[in-house]
Order: sequence, then structure tokens, then C-alpha cells
Amino acid sequence: MENRRPLIAGNWKMFKTCPEAVETAMQLAQLVNINTVDVMIAPQFTALVPVSDVIKESCVSLGAQNLFWESEGAYTGEISPAMLVSAGCGYVIIGHSERRQYFGENDDSVNKKIKAAIRNNLIPILCVGESEKNRESKETFNVLDRQITKGLEGFSSTALDTLVIAYEPVWAIGTGKTATKEQAQEVHRFLRSMVEKIFGNILAKSIRILYGGSVKPDNIKELMEMPDVDGALVGGASLDAKTFSEIINF
Ligand code: PEP
Repeated sequence: MENRRPLIAGNWKMFKTCPEAVETAMQLAQLVNINTVDVMIAPQFTALVPVSDVIKESCVSLGAQNLFWESEGAYTGEISPAMLVSAGCGYVIIGHSERRQYFGENDDSVNKKIKAAIRNNLIPILCVGESEKNRESKETFNVLDRQITKGLEGFSSTALDTLVIAYEPVWAIGTGKTATKEQAQEVHRFLRSMVEKIFGNILAKSIRILYGGSVKPDNIKELMEMPDVDGALVGGASLDAKTFSEIINF
């Protein structure tokens, strides 16, 4: 992992009402006191402000699960980067496979969203990953190549110095199937080599690449032992404060 600071991020998806999110965030803030790992939770939009209030004195940071690239306007139902910043967010998840699958997101919209996040000093977490069909037909590296090349088109390496990439094999999300540590390492190494090819060695060495897909307290340690795994994006297992804190304290 060289000198990269690990990041453990929790994606709460469309779970938890405001009071439930606040309660879990409060428990987490009490359970987690660590300064060697960055920790982030991404609750649903209406819980951002109240959750931000209860974690502000803790080591837990706030993120959003999505944004829209325009700064304001007649875009019913959307949320702008500045709105997320004003709600207390420092991070934003972009291009999660569920957004690609159910809400028509593609590499082009992902690219615009990353640009908007960076313009507003939000740390983007770009999600990439192959489907089960892609993996079976040996398309994994082609798919990832396309998602990275198009998703990051038009950036300079310095603009991307905060970018985080999350490798999330779609077949491992919420399924209980985890990529083996060797499968994760192989893809993370490939992603880092792509970053090196496009943006150079300095960014390739510093960029954090998270693994996501059924991460649990009992598999985090072996994943984190891999040299190119710099943290985790956790869905289901981040919803419970105690379980998530065990992952954070791997
Ligand atoms: C996710 O939604 O990003 C995810 C990895 O989910 P899970 O941990 O539940 O597989």
C-alpha cells in the first residue's frame, strides 16, 4: 500500500430514515477513534445535514451518493455540488453500478460529475467494475479500460490528485460473493497501471484504489494486505455501526 492512507467508506444507499441515520452515525462516532485511516459515510440526501451535525467532532467524514453536474437551475429532483458542500460533504460517490444499472448513468455522465465534484473541492469516488457476464466472457479488463479512459477523459493529472477509484465487481455487490484477494489485487494493479499510462507515475503511486463488494469484518484484513488495495467501499456491512467499526479497525 506504499504510503497511501487507507479510506474505509460506507455507502448507506436508500436505507435509513433521518432519525435512524443520525442514531447509527452517533454510534459510529463513539465507536471509531482512529487517525491512521480515513473514514466516510454516505447517507441518503435528507440525512446529510443532521448526520453532519453529529459527526463533526469525530474522525468520520461525510459523503454523498450522487450529484448533478450543473451548479443550479431547473433540474427537478437533482442536487448540486455546492448544495452537498453546504450540507457538510467532503466526498461524493460517482458512477456506482446501481446508478449505471437503474438510472441510466454512463461514462459520459460520470465524466461530467467528476468534473463538477473537483470544481467544488469534493473528493470524487469513481466506481468501476465488470458484470458477471463481462467476467465470464473475459471482458473484465476491456470494460475497466473503457470506464477509466472515458470517465477520466479531459483531466490533467494534477486535477485528479484527490480522486479515489473504487473497484466494485458488480457480481460481488450485495451478493455475499467477494472477489478473492488475488482477483482484487490483479484488477487493482491493472487500474493503477492504467492511471500510470494515462496520467503518469506520480498520480499512479498516490491514487487510492478501494475494493467494494461484500466486504465484511472477516474478509477486510486479507484484502487490505494486498499491495494495491487502499481501502474499501462498504454497502450492507456499513449499515450497522458495530460491524462497520470492526471493518474500520481491521
Ligand atoms: C456497494 O454498494 O458499494 C457495495 C459494495 O455493497 P455491498 O458491500 O453490500 O456488497
